[in-house]
Amino acid sequence: MKTLNDIDLRDKRVLLRVDFNAPVKNGEVSDDTRLSAHIPTINSILKQRPRALILISHLGRPKGAPTPEFSLKVVLPNLRKLLGKEVHFFEDCAGNDTKAGLEKLPAGSISLLENLRFHSEEKNNDENFARKLASYGDIFIQDAFAVAHRAHASTTGIPKFLPSAAGFLIQKEVKYLSELLKNPERPFVAVLGGAKVSTKISVMKSLLSKVDYLLVGGAMSYTFLKARGINTGLSLVEDDFLEKAKEIDKASVGKLLLPVDHLISKSFEAPLENTVTFEIPDGFYGVDIGPQTIGKYEEVLKNSKTIFWNGPMGIFEVREFSAGTRRIAEIIAEATKSGAVSVAGGGDSVAAIKKTGLAADFSHISTGGGASLEFVEGRLLPGIEALKQE
Ligand code: AMP
Repeated sequence: MKTLNDIDLRDKRVLLRVDFNAPVKNGEVSDDTRLSAHIPTINSILKQRPRALILISHLGRPKGAPTPEFSLKVVLPNLRKLLGKEVHFFEDCAGNDTKAGLEKLPAGSISLLENLRFHSEEKNNDENFARKLASYGDIFIQDAFAVAHRAHASTTGIPKFLPSAAGFLIQKEVKYLSELLKNPERPFVAVLGGAKVSTKISVMKSLLSKVDYLLVGGAMSYTFLKARGINTGLSLVEDDFLEKAKEIDKASVGKLLLPVDHLISKSFEAPLENTVTFEIPDGFYGVDIGPQTIGKYEEVLKNSKTIFWNGPMGIFEVREFSAGTRRIAEIIAEATKSGAVSVAGGGDSVAAIKKTGLAADFSHISTGGGASLEFVEGRLLPGIEALKQE
């Protein structure tokens, strides 16, 4: 893979794909982590004095048409502040006059183009759309790891028309995630949580062939528990996956650890009469892992040398149900201080880590949820493969 260090950008028009898909609340960016993650790449490009830097990104999930609530304009104040520089904004990333407008700007200008997903051609990986975007630049730099598992115009399309290379964020993600796969220091422990088994079956299978232990929490554990014949009450269970869960459990040769106790509640929203139990009685939901489970997982994690974490241990959005997820974040942060390498991926686990204020104590927090899972699963990401073509 060609990287930013391998190419000369002086006087070139540089087209940079970033992931500015930041959370927006009340018309403002509520957390600028996704923006700041690209600042090293942007500053390194600017240092080379390109003729123009043109930033392209998506925001949210507009349905292929301009939608004001998903306008990238919202990131401009944050971006200008982070860069300490003026950033021009173009209302359409592929308008009839976008290219001419870009060319009129003085040398050294920075521009941000409106949401790529205002055009259905982005997700459809339309060749003409990719060619149009490519025509704005002389060189394409890909830095949006979070979309690297998608074959879109701005991931696999543009590299067909321009010399392309990876930015620093992609390089950093690939470095940490491939270290997990190549030669992880052992014990290597993965922690998986979140809502559904169905979305994580293939990563579970692949992790089980690599890790020493796989610790499971969150709603996905109930499908496994039910498959073992344990009562799960009203908890989220994917009945269609009971057989699959049984199969994985059996093949895991003791590597798969499941919660042994649970915080239960009669309601998802509010902690009415919550209690800890070993099985989940009828009429109750499992909402978090219990203290014995935390203790058991702590024993494993504190001796581990490599840790990968994806997905919360319970309904962490509700404060009363967040203790398990918070404690796991603390335990991994402590293990990291004692020399373990820790990598966390996935929107929700990252949000939970941030809530605990422990983000800086992890070795690496991936900016890609789906992309990091697919990478760890050993799948080739199309957006990264596209950078290898030259
Ligand atoms: P995922 O996107 O698969 O990582 O799932 C994250 C979601 O799983 C979060 O919104 C959590 O609230 C949810 N979740 C975790 N544990 C539970 C549980 N015990 N019951 C219901 N939802 C859960």
